[in-house]
Amino acid sequence: MFAEIIIDQDAKALDKVFEYIVPDDMELQVGMRVKVPFGKRQLQGFVVKIKDNCDYNSEKLKKICEKIEDFAVVKPEMLEIMKFMAKKFHLKLASILRLFLPAEMREGKVSELIETYYHLCENVDYSISKSAKNQLAIIEELKNGDKSSSYLGEKYGYSTLKTLVLKGYIEKKKREVKRKPFVITQNDKRVTLNDGQINALNCIKENKTYLLHGVTGSGKTEIYMHLIEDALQKGKNAIMLVPEISLTPQIMSNFKGRFGDNVALLHSGLSAGERFDEWKRLFTGEARIAIGARSAIFAPLENLGVIIIDEEHEGSYISESNPRYNTHSVAEFRARYNSCPLLLGSATPSIESYQKAKEGIYQLIELPVRANGKEMPPVQIVDMMEELRRGNSSIFSNQLLADLANVINDKKQAMIFMNRRGYSSFMRCRECGYVAKCSDCDVSLVYHKEDNRLKCHYCGKQFKVLTRCPNCQSENIKYGAVGTEQIVHKLNEIFPDVKILRMDNDTTSTKNAHQKILDEFRRTKPCILVGTQMIAKGHDFEDVVLVGIVDGDQGLYQTDYRSTERTFQLITQVAGRAGRSENAGKVVLQTYSPRHYVYKFASNYDYKGFFRKEINIRQTAEFPPFTRLLRILFSDFDENHVRELLKVCYTEIVKLKDKYGDQIIYLDAMKSPIKRVQDKYRYQIMMRLKLEKADEIEEECFNIVNSAAKTSVFFEVNPQNLS
Ligand code: ADP
Ligand code: ZN
Ligand code: ZN
Repeated sequence: MFAEIIIDQDAKALDKVFEYIVPDDMELQVGMRVKVPFGKRQLQGFVVKIKDNCDYNSEKLKKICEKIEDFAVVKPEMLEIMKFMAKKFHLKLASILRLFLPAEMREGKVSELIETYYHLCENVDYSISKSAKNQLAIIEELKNGDKSSSYLGEKYGYSTLKTLVLKGYIEKKKREVKRKPFVITQNDKRVTLNDGQINALNCIKENKTYLLHGVTGSGKTEIYMHLIEDALQKGKNAIMLVPEISLTPQIMSNFKGRFGDNVALLHSGLSAGERFDEWKRLFTGEARIAIGARSAIFAPLENLGVIIIDEEHEGSYISESNPRYNTHSVAEFRARYNSCPLLLGSATPSIESYQKAKEGIYQLIELPVRANGKEMPPVQIVDMMEELRRGNSSIFSNQLLADLANVINDKKQAMIFMNRRGYSSFMRCRECGYVAKCSDCDVSLVYHKEDNRLKCHYCGKQFKVLTRCPNCQSENIKYGAVGTEQIVHKLNEIFPDVKILRMDNDTTSTKNAHQKILDEFRRTKPCILVGTQMIAKGHDFEDVVLVGIVDGDQGLYQTDYRSTERTFQLITQVAGRAGRSENAGKVVLQTYSPRHYVYKFASNYDYKGFFRKEINIRQTAEFPPFTRLLRILFSDFDENHVRELLKVCYTEIVKLKDKYGDQIIYLDAMKSPIKRVQDKYRYQIMMRLKLEKADEIEEECFNIVNSAAKTSVFFEVNPQNLS
């Protein structure tokens, strides 16, 4: 017998299937991990096929050394996903297989947690003198069941335990215990479904992709839970993806409350051991629901009854580090493979997804009202240019300060939101609001400090830094923005007696930090929580009556075609935090561009209106979803080498223009906006392609690059981030 094996090394030269001889006495299955001789070394690999004949000269083949585990770690469906992803995203096979296993397992660092415990021997006459109190106590404890060695040892002394073992009264045993990643209060609040929810559930039956467009608070979570419950009842399993930042304690306790130990949670807050245990519970079928961020789409579950992607518009579903993939595509593949529905849920679907729903590729389901019947809170737009003209050049408008003072008076709570993205990058006139844009691409330019230039992240074009506004001639032109820290500092000055909490990347780096801040916020009244994107999602605080958005424009003048869309999404999400209960809420939105269409639509909660406007702009400007944006990223420690490689590839790719003509809307090669990452130099080829021939052109580019490159080259389609 022979086996086809993929070597577990992230090297281009090893990115193919190797053949080995299966030793006669080895019972091998597809999906098992093995050790094989490779040159002078022994390497790990995955068995992807077993066959009677080999394609190669069998005399030259070597034998598999040994199996790493006695079972197949990669299930048949996962091998199909591997093939699909390799083709679709141009990835190396080993790098895909790695996604399927917890990293800990590959590196062999973590294994099952083994506990030593003591068990009372049966049918034994215990003759212990009354003075041996500890011995008697141990026997008493064990009569009620087994106890761990550490518990008994600490309490009664390890030598006492030894004595009892020698006497033959108790025995020492070992067992595997699961680490408990979450100590959470379980919440199983049941509600009667409303008509909208019932209708949605009745729709979602078939092996199709559904887009659930439901306003914040419309009760989407309840629909997710019912779908999962249905799947379990049919003996099937389920995957639910949520963005990392919305894996709040609240979501977890709701799902744990409803489904108990059937739920396995996978996210970056877990320790290596915890991750491994949760993965194993899914693998063995002990847990049947995987909930987690992006990578949970690779949960080792078979027989899926439903896949759910919550907040489907979130950028984090596109992987921007290696391997680079798009979660929606993988989810769609798994849903088709399992013949189950895929549900995408959002209050603000991505323009791409909503367009697909319009085209009938996705089935659209709408929940236009909140489950509790409450209106969405009114949004007041404050013109910060006007504030400036009136002499207020601080971060806060008079309106926001007045509203904050009211909140504090009423002993309620407020959230102040600050967009994390785009710290200081774009350039804006403080008099008229003008923002410097690329003359070719109509996206905002980014200020690069190191060479004091403005650059376009799409085409690489560079511009001189402005000293005078071309629009109004003012010299009051500035970069950038303020951060959360500065806001907290200012608020402390203005409201010295009020508790002000901060939640952002800096304050949440330690485990459970999130939860601690939120718990404190929940307890404290009055209180102001200042934060980034992290406070925008999923939190349900009854006493939040005011949401302040300090600088709505921050996201707007980002450098990519999705920036307006992201601004709309963020404002809607953040606004959804206010007035979720009996307390009426309000949103104050500060902006320097009050007449921008995004604010008009966002303040009216008019998603459809926004979509119509935005999709028109995309069509006219030839941006996705009407075209495909392709970035081919080259990176290497040796700058000359990357540059050389870029040149070789570009020369070939340019020739495609003869063949494809206007199918290639844009093509150029350049340094990446961030020139060096982890000591590697980055260069890129950017392309915009008409959809008609996009697959074909992409394939041709891949073949060109693949035959020229010795090192890694990455293909990104419609990336979220062009740094
Ligand atoms: P979404 O995820 O759509 O933003 P949620 O699922 O968080 O909304 O629901 C918002 C609130 O409405 C929650 O407190 C939830 O318990 C409640 N809710 C959901 N469905 C119903 C219902 N049918 N009747 C009453 N309350 C409901
Ligand atoms: Zn440009
Ligand atoms: Zn100006």
